[in-house]
Amino acid sequence: MNSAGPGRLAGYTTLRLGGAPRQLVTATQTEQIVQSLRDAESRHEPILVLAGGSNVVVSDDGFPGTVLLVRTRGFQVVATDDETVTVRVAAGEPWDDLVAATVEAGWSGVECLSGIPGSAGATPIQNVGAYGQEVAETVTGVEAYDRVAGEVVRMTPEECRFGYRASVFKHNDRWTVLSVDFRLLRSPLSAPVRYAELARALGAEIGDRVPLADARATVRALRAGKGMVLDPADPDTRSVGSFFTNPVLDSAAYLALRDRAADLGEPPSWPGSGDTVKVSAAWLIDKAGFPKGYRGADGVAISSKHTLALTNPGDGSTAALLALAREIRDGVHARFGATLHPEPVLVNCAL
Ligand SMILES: Cc1cc2nc3c(=O)[nH]c(=O)nc-3n(C[C@H](O)[C@H](O)[C@H](O)COP(=O)(O)OP(=O)(O)OC[C@H]3O[C@@H](n4cnc5c(N)ncnc54)[C@H](O)[C@@H]3O)c2cc1C
Repeated sequence: MNSAGPGRLAGYTTLRLGGAPRQLVTATQTEQIVQSLRDAESRHEPILVLAGGSNVVVSDDGFPGTVLLVRTRGFQVVATDDETVTVRVAAGEPWDDLVAATVEAGWSGVECLSGIPGSAGATPIQNVGAYGQEVAETVTGVEAYDRVAGEVVRMTPEECRFGYRASVFKHNDRWTVLSVDFRLLRSPLSAPVRYAELARALGAEIGDRVPLADARATVRALRAGKGMVLDPADPDTRSVGSFFTNPVLDSAAYLALRDRAADLGEPPSWPGSGDTVKVSAAWLIDKAGFPKGYRGADGVAISSKHTLALTNPGDGSTAALLALAREIRDGVHARFGATLHPEPVLVNCAL
């Protein structure tokens, strides 16, 4: 574990935004994560757990406490049977490296989550999902340090309370994830393809299984076309991915929205759980007058490839990014009556 004088957190986030913390600590061993949390606790010091920095918006003022960089690595098979393997993955393991290894090994279940930046340990936080898959389908357990109990605990998927881009961990610093167990199918083929755009690109039908490597390559290509795979040469990828979640409306609110959008055609939507409908935030943003490339102050802008990504292609500020996000949120509300909620975690700042 090493402590360093605080540089700007911009260097640790994919948006390249954020001022300095009071202290920066790097943990390469699980025990160091636990010890740092206990130390900060005993000093009554705020602590921010940061891994890949791909889902945080950090204030220009930085963070008034310790930032703990999770840099643990590695995974191991902890259980097997004829059909499945269970891999236990250290929190700091880069997520896409893990996905690549599972595809290579012929283990099916996370291939459609290829190309998502960040760490394996952060995937349970918002139940990371894309192209018809989410980690809730394969997570069988989470090992976490519980700051209330003051000990390391094992949590079941039920205790994780996974939802759409949500879990018990999001906006809650009680637990720090130390490792995650994923149960994967021994199969050279992907899980059934559920996402129409992916099926089209694969030349497959919904429900088909395709070779794992094809699923991975096709997802990565689709994502790259939208600026959704980190690429230092592509300023559109300086983002947190989607800035807003898709609004989930009850049927009355959905009908009201459809009325207000009647002149624009049917808003793209998907059935949500129970009596709810999930509406495309990208469509609402675009139709409210914020197209791809729309610019805010200080060079911050909507990605030129994806309406949902707010980017900092140059030398912008968190204040400018949040001002753009507010303008979009308020514009969508004024036009359609729907409220957009941010997907990333806002650190020491608010929308
Ligand atoms: C280009 C791009 C594309 C993206 N595409 C997708 C996508 O398709 N689907 C999707 O769901 N997300 C997507 N994201 C968002 C992001 O990659 C994921 O949310 C990812 O899991 C964040 O991991 P991280 O390690 O970077 O987390 P960080 O940004 O470091 O942290 C995010 C939050 O999790 C907390 N956290 C991190 N590690 C731990 C831990 N070990 N224990 C407890 N809390 C922790 C942090 O405190 C913070 O609150 C995208 C982001 C980018 C930049």
